[in-house]
Amino acid sequence: MLLRHTTKEVKERSALTINPAKTCQPIGALYAALGIHRCLPHSHGSQGCCAYHRSALTRHYKEPVMAATSSFTEGASVFGGQSNLLQAINNIFSVYEPDVIAVHTTCLSETIGDDITQIIAAAKDKKFIPEGKYVIHCNTPSYVGSHVTGFSNMVKGMVSYFAQSGPQTKTINIIPGWVEPSDMREIKRICKMMGIKIILFPDTSDVLDCPQTGTFEFYPKGGTTIDELKLTGRSQMTLALGRVASLAAARELDAKYKVPCETLELPIGLRATDRFVDMLRRTARVDVPASLEDERGRLMDIITDMHQYFYGKRVALWGDPDQLVAITEFLVDLDMRPVYIVTGTPGKKFLSRIEKVLQGKVPEAKVKEGACADMFLMHQWIKQEKVDLLIGNTYGKYISRDEDIPLLRFGFPILDRVGHSYFPSVGYSGAMRLLEKILGLLMDRQDRDAKEESFELVM
Ligand code: SF4
Repeated sequence: MLLRHTTKEVKERSALTINPAKTCQPIGALYAALGIHRCLPHSHGSQGCCAYHRSALTRHYKEPVMAATSSFTEGASVFGGQSNLLQAINNIFSVYEPDVIAVHTTCLSETIGDDITQIIAAAKDKKFIPEGKYVIHCNTPSYVGSHVTGFSNMVKGMVSYFAQSGPQTKTINIIPGWVEPSDMREIKRICKMMGIKIILFPDTSDVLDCPQTGTFEFYPKGGTTIDELKLTGRSQMTLALGRVASLAAARELDAKYKVPCETLELPIGLRATDRFVDMLRRTARVDVPASLEDERGRLMDIITDMHQYFYGKRVALWGDPDQLVAITEFLVDLDMRPVYIVTGTPGKKFLSRIEKVLQGKVPEAKVKEGACADMFLMHQWIKQEKVDLLIGNTYGKYISRDEDIPLLRFGFPILDRVGHSYFPSVGYSGAMRLLEKILGLLMDRQDRDAKEESFELVM
């Protein structure tokens, strides 16, 4: 019982987080930056921050995640990090030759108040940025928001630095939100099936899910190119998937380049994927191909066949707001009962979004966001009344073990399993995979707990 000190009684807290259901902003900025082709992310702060951010992503993706750091020591902490960043920009372009350096800040450089825009201008003046190369940045103070905020800030930074105006094209921008490389690949596959030209940004497929070829590529073949990012200002529309991770960049494109934007929940599950496909269909004025309708039909078939195993099962979920809203809707559609939901990412809108997808069907649901919506509170709720299934990142494995409840690993980070970066959760085929995993856990549990006389061969 690793969590044996967790009590059942919930006491109101205002200044204490225990086992947060989030991580820090620069991790999201770093992840987003990896979705630009030939980009080297740069952490403007101390080495310790950068080492943590890289290791968090490396452990989740099981791929070497590269990033440079301004390597603050006592001097930079007192006098500011300008000279460190200038030297870093010069060194990085000389040694590693990226096309883009994407700088994000840290708690330390934010507290000092380093002006990154001015430092980048100084680097240009000193001719530290070669012709045709770029340095972009975003601010990621980790004492506010979460890794999802950092992701959103870096994607907005991409628009601010690269998007350009010009004659409108028929292309649709898609900002995929914080999803896996496999999900980004699936979004592209669906659009290709429908014959729709898109610019997906950021795009970490073929960056963090690279095949083993025997040759190490410092800059893998994937990622959105700079030319594509420049064209985003000319697209006919931007589709922001997940408002917390994607809306800021979409609004920036709207405000600066008059590219209208629409927001949808992440296409996880049946209805969310229907809305995504329908939005694409209407915007691009195309028909949905029969092959995609077949995928939907197969998903419907599994739902219908296995409904008895989903019905009424109580579920506890934690993680990122955009992912939680989408998967909660899917669970409700399966007649499951998402009863406990927490996200450490602050934002009151999360509560109304969850309320909307619950559709009043789970009146006993407890939902909380922000600093005190942590894994400790989640465990306390579970101790008060048990659930049948846990859905969330690896940090839930302690609750899973102590309370003997099956855990579906979903979200970020997943440190103790593989597959999440290779198999999608979005789209109809992603929903089928989620169903298969949920069913596997529920049916294994039923088998394990069945008395001998009711142990079934055929289920
Ligand atoms: S919370 Fe702040 S100090 Fe800690 S690793 Fe993140 S950026 Fe660095």
